[in-house]
Amino acid sequence: MRFVDTWTSATLLATRDLTADVREFLLRPDAPVASFAPGSHINVGVDIGGRPETRSYSLIGEADPQGLRIAVRRAPDSRGGSRYMWQLAPGARLDITLPTSQFQIDWMRPHYCLIAGGIGITPILGIAQVLARRHADFVVHYAVRSRRDAAYLRELQEMPGSRLVLHAGDEGGRLDLAAVFRELPPQAMTLFCGPMRMLDAARHAFLAAGRPLADLSYETFGSSGLLPTEPFRVRLADAGAEFVIPSDRSMLDVLNEAGHEVISDCRRGECGVCAIDVVGIDGEIDHRDVFFSDHQKRENRKICPCVSRARGVLTVDTLHRTQAA
Ligand SMILES: Cc1cc2nc3c(=O)[nH]c(=O)nc-3n(C[C@H](O)[C@H](O)[C@H](O)COP(=O)(O)OP(=O)(O)OC[C@H]3O[C@@H](n4cnc5c(N)ncnc54)[C@H](O)[C@@H]3O)c2cc1C
Repeated sequence: MRFVDTWTSATLLATRDLTADVREFLLRPDAPVASFAPGSHINVGVDIGGRPETRSYSLIGEADPQGLRIAVRRAPDSRGGSRYMWQLAPGARLDITLPTSQFQIDWMRPHYCLIAGGIGITPILGIAQVLARRHADFVVHYAVRSRRDAAYLRELQEMPGSRLVLHAGDEGGRLDLAAVFRELPPQAMTLFCGPMRMLDAARHAFLAAGRPLADLSYETFGSSGLLPTEPFRVRLADAGAEFVIPSDRSMLDVLNEAGHEVISDCRRGECGVCAIDVVGIDGEIDHRDVFFSDHQKRENRKICPCVSRARGVLTVDTLHRTQAA
């Protein structure tokens, strides 16, 4: 699958702080966007240390003549995309893509279970609004560290027909995914957005509850991984070279800058175009993509260098790819 984005320009009209760490941005694209599928996101061009990069942000709510709303969580241990967004002031010009959605939603189900972890509420809110407008039967489980971290809580509480269950960690409200899935009515569709670790738990609990994965549609904001983001080393089996991948760079960028070309497309761990062969691991791989299956990740034979990282030393073979190209 190729990810072909159509870019346009937009003006930042206003910002609004929703919580201490989540800021909403109202953007007016030069060419108005009349509608988009609920749960859609746009890509935004950001500047990270002088390098142009893109970051994806989900659209808040439904299409609005005022413009497109996104909400960005300030990520403390990050490369800088969210920091770039947070320093923007009204009037700033941005490059954005037209909305696209990764959610596959069957709108004919008798019941919907929406699950959001933290900032994962952004696509879930718009989906909930559409379900509320259609008078559908749905429940929203919203897991946050604390109530004051819960962006859009009032909107969810006031939404007609919505049953909101807030799971605030500091109030002992842990989200028990196994219990949620066990009690779901048959034919329910589950829509999930949250961090990678929570998605893994959700997929396992979903299967353990005997539900078909086709009834679970999800999006993860990716790349936070299971291991801490720390430097690691990569050896090229075919070229004999070795590189240190610093915490703030991807393996893909380091290899490409050193002239060992690895082709890529989405750069978000979704398409698998950049996948390269792993021939040795002295340490552990932190697969941060959503392209490989659990089984493939356990096998550790390939890695998506755009997002995945490691602890220790990784030996990869790019010769294999060059011959195949
Ligand atoms: C479809 C989609 C929708 C999204 N919607 C939203 C949204 O609505 N709101 C929102 O706030 N975010 C959203 N995101 C996430 C967003 O695109 C950015 O990833 C986020 O703003 C963090 O960007 P950053 O550059 O600040 O952090 P990044 O550097 O991308 O860091 C993100 C996390 O990755 C880890 N990390 C740090 N350095 C590296 C590295 N070198 N390599 C790999 N991982 C690293 C860290 O643990 C960090 O917590 C969405 C992502 C996707 C794919």
